[in-house]
Amino acid sequence: MKTTARVVVIGGGVVGCSVLYHLTKKGWSDVMLIERDQLTSGSTWHAAGGFHTLNGDPNVAMLQSYTVSLYEELERISGQSCGMHKSPGIMLADTPERMEFLKMTVARGRYLGMSTEIISVKEAMNYFPFIEEKYFLGALLDPNEGHLDPSGTTYAYAKAARIGGATIEVQTKVESLEQKPDGTWRVITNKGVVECEHVVNAGGLWAREVGRMVGIELPVLAMEHMYLVTDDIPEVEAFNKSAGKEIGHVIDFGAESYLRQEGKGMVLGVYEQAGKPWSTKTTPWSFGQELLQPDLDRIAPSLEIAFKHFPTLENAGIKRVINGPFTFAPDGNPLVGPVQGRTNFWSACGVMAGFSQGGGVGLALSNWMVDGDPGFDIWGMDVARYGDWATRTYTNAKVRENYSRRFRIRFPNEELPAARPLQTTPLYDKFIEQGAVMGDSWGMETPLWFAPKGSEAKDIVSFHRSNDFEHIKAECKAVREAVGVTEIANFSKYEITGPGAEAWLQTQMTNTLPKKGRLQLCPMLNHQGKLIGDFTIAKADDERFMMWGSSQAQVYHMRWFEQTLPKDGSVKITPYGMKLIGLSIAGPKSRELLQRLTDDDVSNAAFKFMDYREMEVATVQAKVNRVTYTGDLGYEIWVAPEYQRRLYESIMEAGADLGIKNFGMRALLCMRLEKNFGTWFREFRPIYGPFEAGLDRFVKLDQHEFIGKAAAIKEKADGPKKTRIFMVVDALDCDVMGDEPIWVDGKVVGWVTSGGYGHYVDQSLAQGYIPTEFFKPDMTLEIEILGERRAARLQMDPPFDPEAKRMRM
Ligand SMILES: Cc1cc2nc3c(=O)[nH]c(=O)nc-3n(C[C@H](O)[C@H](O)[C@H](O)COP(=O)(O)OP(=O)(O)OC[C@H]3O[C@@H](n4cnc5c(N)ncnc54)[C@H](O)[C@@H]3O)c2cc1C
Repeated sequence: MKTTARVVVIGGGVVGCSVLYHLTKKGWSDVMLIERDQLTSGSTWHAAGGFHTLNGDPNVAMLQSYTVSLYEELERISGQSCGMHKSPGIMLADTPERMEFLKMTVARGRYLGMSTEIISVKEAMNYFPFIEEKYFLGALLDPNEGHLDPSGTTYAYAKAARIGGATIEVQTKVESLEQKPDGTWRVITNKGVVECEHVVNAGGLWAREVGRMVGIELPVLAMEHMYLVTDDIPEVEAFNKSAGKEIGHVIDFGAESYLRQEGKGMVLGVYEQAGKPWSTKTTPWSFGQELLQPDLDRIAPSLEIAFKHFPTLENAGIKRVINGPFTFAPDGNPLVGPVQGRTNFWSACGVMAGFSQGGGVGLALSNWMVDGDPGFDIWGMDVARYGDWATRTYTNAKVRENYSRRFRIRFPNEELPAARPLQTTPLYDKFIEQGAVMGDSWGMETPLWFAPKGSEAKDIVSFHRSNDFEHIKAECKAVREAVGVTEIANFSKYEITGPGAEAWLQTQMTNTLPKKGRLQLCPMLNHQGKLIGDFTIAKADDERFMMWGSSQAQVYHMRWFEQTLPKDGSVKITPYGMKLIGLSIAGPKSRELLQRLTDDDVSNAAFKFMDYREMEVATVQAKVNRVTYTGDLGYEIWVAPEYQRRLYESIMEAGADLGIKNFGMRALLCMRLEKNFGTWFREFRPIYGPFEAGLDRFVKLDQHEFIGKAAAIKEKADGPKKTRIFMVVDALDCDVMGDEPIWVDGKVVGWVTSGGYGHYVDQSLAQGYIPTEFFKPDMTLEIEILGERRAARLQMDPPFDPEAKRMRM
């Protein structure tokens, strides 16, 4: 066995083999895969082998599409058959909501170049003849689906990787990992030690154990999964003969089932409600190519519906039942990328659909390792989307929930209940008492809206405007006309200190840093000049800065900062997490309210827009920013959690005669929309440059050096390829939700990033991107909402306070 390699990939399932192949494709040939048994001996060997391109996250869908397109290349290079059967897939809708969901899915696929379409039930029967028509309303047809041979495909990756120079050691178990002071690794196996620069955890069913070797607990859990293979069904053969093709793939949401042809019979797999986790704490190393005991009772309720929907199957004999485990992350998407806090330790696990996603995971990870960037927007599968709060038992609750919802719709206003409430602030109970409907923001409870007395504090889930509409309107009105208070605990917050703090921070940000006592909005770029952060920074003192960003990005940003911090200890960055939580007061009467709570002078002359001050508010030490995301006069007041209740009660008491009202996250997002402010991970993402995103005024190209500057100069010189646009939509009772296609002059060219109803300006609003070449002030715009193309028009200025006087008043 070799004793050195540039990269060691742990795990020879489909994912590890794909990573290995992609590394060689990127030109790294000194790469090695170590497998404790034979290739495929984790989940891979017993997979049903189905593949498809559809995914709720368009960026993940794109990588799935790449995976599917890769198999021909693999067969060509390796000479190994993947056993491909391409056959169209249909998704059947048995309720009006599922029909709407399918229409939305087709629309979302349009700008990704997917050729899905809505077809009638009759047309669906041309692909799957066993449908009992009366149960269904329509279907989605996806021509780009099929199934393959899981083992052949994994070996095709492995052979192609070997041709590219990789080595593969089977029957070799990685027993522990040691990091050397220079950041390189010693991989200790039962057959000797391999020294390497990078380690990739593609341990599949054992990914947790491999993570534990470096002291981390990855949020993955295996679930048992069952599918049946039927005896030959005469009708299958008859269809094959008469139609001259295989029976297509089917997803039946109602029966939580997927089906496809296998030989002259069918495969029927189920994602049942009562899903069962497997090996909840540790995966036994002794587990080999084994199957689990089938439990047909568990899937009986789903089978009953499937047999009603497809009666031909009811009488088919069952040839075999496969029950095998495979892993999921809490949201069902993979965990990919460098692990924060560990140098050169990479995750490629939690891949629940290895044959749809494995290629994309390999491509993104190899780009990341070789080029320093995944090359795509992979936030949806970035391992950094989870933090310490995603514990083993949290993961258990969420994975079970996700499994049971695999074929269920998630409505845009739907909050999922498992493992909640997890993180709460001292105001949680107070908010609930006042009718708050809470949402889960990456493990943190946040008020979404407040139901007044007499109305139920519960969302009626829907794709359309719902029961929160009038209440959010009232909250926006209170802010715009008087004053409102909202909790803003769910930001990320950092303190940066030390003699080198200013110089280092300046190299991270495109904008110049603020002067002492001031705030500045600062985008952050990667080396490729793409947006990887968007912060509000305060200079608190000569060697001390405070910084606020998006809550879900804290691990993502800390991972970046750890790479760029000077090694001499001259700068310290401390993420505050829940140790600093905030309340924001906003609206024309917010200054009067703040003045009642402090003996500091907060007049406009003394405390200007974008000022920062550390002062006492309601007898509490606070850090106060004169800025709010509402785009109105307002303040963010940050305090230690033990003082938050005191602060809130004082605000409510002092604001009573000013008409103070609670407002929630939905009203906040609505008000930011009325100002055309972007949000992180919607308008601002690592696929956009700062000029594309319209952040020109926060990018100073002639004043200081910063990461990504050369690329930013080039973006500006060449002209941004995309343009962020703002639109007013002629919507009916359904506003955009995000990811809808934008039609310009009758052609799909762009996509919506976010939107909703602007309650105070009484308009349906949307933000999105189009290629710059299509941008014309008089272009004809349409947005497809739930299958219907609605007219839209370009809105150049924010409809609320276009001259931005309110923030400065
Ligand atoms: C019943 C069933 C049906 C499925 N159907 C489909 C389907 O139709 N389509 C689809 O896309 N997916 C399907 N899947 C899921 C699919 O199997 C997984 O997505 C895929 O196999 C994950 O591959 P992996 O490489 O991540 O993990 P694994 O296949 O588990 O591979 C991990 C490998 O790492 C090795 N390893 C772990 N730790 C060490 C160590 N310390 N040292 C050395 N080696 C180590 C293991 O031996 C193993 O071979 C199905 C799964 C099941 C169970």
